[in-house]
Amino acid sequence: MCNKYEPNKGLSILKAKCPQCQSGKMYITSAFKLNGFTQMYDSCPICNLTFEVEPGFFWGAMYVSYAITTGMMLVVGALVYILSGHNAGFWGYIIPIFLSMFLSIPFTYRYARVLMLYMFSPIKFNKDLISKV
Ligand SMILES: [Zn+2]
Repeated sequence: MCNKYEPNKGLSILKAKCPQCQSGKMYITSAFKLNGFTQMYDSCPICNLTFEVEPGFFWGAMYVSYAITTGMMLVVGALVYILSGHNAGFWGYIIPIFLSMFLSIPFTYRYARVLMLYMFSPIKFNKDLISKV
């Protein structure tokens, strides 16, 4: 039986862990803390990786956020279309779509940065840096 801990990349993304060691947290507070959900560590508390790999790196997260939000709007719009029996009316679409967008701001903001780091940075997972906790 293998006792080696192999982190799951999908779970590491969901938990907003560092892309290099997949053990250290990227965010200081919870997404549910409304006055601090944007606070991010400058570097990983475990492997000391600097998260902003170059100046302005996280500007690209706006495009990731745009893609997430657009996809969510399409899904919510389709759900309203299906669940309402095809006659929700103008406000029947606008209210659920904007409400879901507004309520998901902390998650969209955070996951846009996490996905930006995992998908568009040269950082690779290094198994030697796994926390032994
Ligand atoms: Zn790390």
